[in-house]
Amino acid sequence: MNGFINPYTFIPVNKGRKQDYADYFKKPLLSGKICCTLTTRTQIAVCDKIREQDFDFFKVDGKAVIMGSSLRGTIRSIYEALTDSCLSSTNAEDEDYFSSRLNKAAPGLIENTENGYVLYQAKRFKDENNTQLRNYKTGDIVGFSEYSKKGRNGTILYFNLKENASRKGYVHKVDRFHSIIKGKPIENKDSIFEKKGTAIPLTEKSIHLLEVNIFDVDKNQLRYATKDKKIAENYYAQFKKMKAGQALLPVWYYEENGNYYFAPSQMSRAVFFRQPVDFLKDKNLNPCNTAESVCEACALFGIVRQGENNSGSFAKASRIRFSDAICEDKNCFDKKIKILSGSPRLSSFEFYLNSIDEQYHADSPNVKIAGRKYYWHHNDKTIKSSANNGSENMIYQVELVKPKSVFRFEVYFDRIPETALKKLLFAITLGENTADSPHCHKVGHGKPIGLGSAKIIADSVKVRTFSDGLYLEDDYIWNPEELRKVFANQKNVDNVLKVTDFNAVNGKDIQYPTTNPDGGEIFKWFSENRNGLRSIGKPMEYYCKLPSLKDTDQHLPFNPKSGGNSQSFSYGNGNSFGMGNFRTKPPKKKK
Ligand SMILES: [Zn+2]
Repeated sequence: MNGFINPYTFIPVNKGRKQDYADYFKKPLLSGKICCTLTTRTQIAVCDKIREQDFDFFKVDGKAVIMGSSLRGTIRSIYEALTDSCLSSTNAEDEDYFSSRLNKAAPGLIENTENGYVLYQAKRFKDENNTQLRNYKTGDIVGFSEYSKKGRNGTILYFNLKENASRKGYVHKVDRFHSIIKGKPIENKDSIFEKKGTAIPLTEKSIHLLEVNIFDVDKNQLRYATKDKKIAENYYAQFKKMKAGQALLPVWYYEENGNYYFAPSQMSRAVFFRQPVDFLKDKNLNPCNTAESVCEACALFGIVRQGENNSGSFAKASRIRFSDAICEDKNCFDKKIKILSGSPRLSSFEFYLNSIDEQYHADSPNVKIAGRKYYWHHNDKTIKSSANNGSENMIYQVELVKPKSVFRFEVYFDRIPETALKKLLFAITLGENTADSPHCHKVGHGKPIGLGSAKIIADSVKVRTFSDGLYLEDDYIWNPEELRKVFANQKNVDNVLKVTDFNAVNGKDIQYPTTNPDGGEIFKWFSENRNGLRSIGKPMEYYCKLPSLKDTDQHLPFNPKSGGNSQSFSYGNGNSFGMGNFRTKPPKKKK
């Protein structure tokens, strides 16, 4: 087969449903326990760190254990998808998740005035030999005179420092990287920015995003990376002076639809106004944080939200408890393998966002989130090692448990309505309570490389009643095939059943995007998938988009540019949630 299947796909989202917490728990309510058996279909990894980059399978008394918290996370994410609940475990708090290279950047100067932040356009003069600004920092004010020379693309403006000159400019220092343009090495130049034009008012948000772009407050470290660390450090120091109203800050900026995007250097990235949490809010799917507006999954599984400085903290206890799952067979362990850690963190809009438009980025109109992320099962694939191409420090050694290993655990429920119990049973059994059912969960680590597939069945469901001072346990009678009827949206059920189908796609073809079948850098595939990375001031255009969940063929081509022409791929229509496979023709060539 030509091409590969991306390890994850998205379940499309609907408008989230939230209501008052108390409304979920109207009597009669049931309490009791579900006794479950989990049988592994593939190898699994539930890790306990023994040394840096070396993990044993989690064990108690020599027996393999899957922690209750891990099972709970697995079941909860399915429950969320079935009930249009919030995306409780997204990295929705990341403020710089969506960012991109600033195209067509113009020089400017920012000031914090009595009336708020303003931008001045600026004229930029280069230091021809990069010798004059050695002893200066970004933001320093210098006197200069100008001269110009003919360059390849028109006239280039240069400056000479001149102590008592009437013309003043602001120093802008940059990293000394070299690029090759038309065979000639070009050194990046320091420059000075001269203030021009009138003050353009700016929003606080645009300044906030510039700070996010430069500095990570949570980690207390610079995001703006320069080879010479002093360049970035001085830039952030100047930013803080500007914020305090004590200085002007040279910036590169780009304006689009009234939004001003700022970057510390001409070639660096800018952060978009709309981040994951904004997209979630549009759909009422942002993590719940008040009792008046709670989604079904949070009501059942509980919520803990830490507000800033303890203000706005909010918690509701879980009504469900998962015990640890234990495997009695001490021969269940497989030998250790080496795997690459983590998944690539990419601002790949073509996968995480979708749009009816051909060109888009996070701030474009008509853009929506692709949905809830799930990993495909890898059928017919034994994992030996996935760490052939990574750099050393990303490789982890993990101990696995073999396929067909049997774990047992219990799920306790406490004062929940019968409909919630039925939904929970569906989320656990995926509607088929038989050991050979193809509908499986994913647990533990290494999901992208094919670890973690397991079938869970409910062996018994007991409901506890209290009468005459005694607890009585009764069998709860249920029919797995009837369960799906309790969900308001049957499309959600179909989507969950597709993504949990062990045989939905051919496991042998699953891998992260690379430009050839034997591996290669993931980044390269994404950059080759973009048409017009240099196209000025325009959002990216993509050759390939991720196939939508409903598509029969989930393959992507190793050569993304071939996506539009290859006959072996199906063509989508690019509508909003069915993200569409590939465009029907290659994108137009830019001039
Ligand atoms: Zn919620």
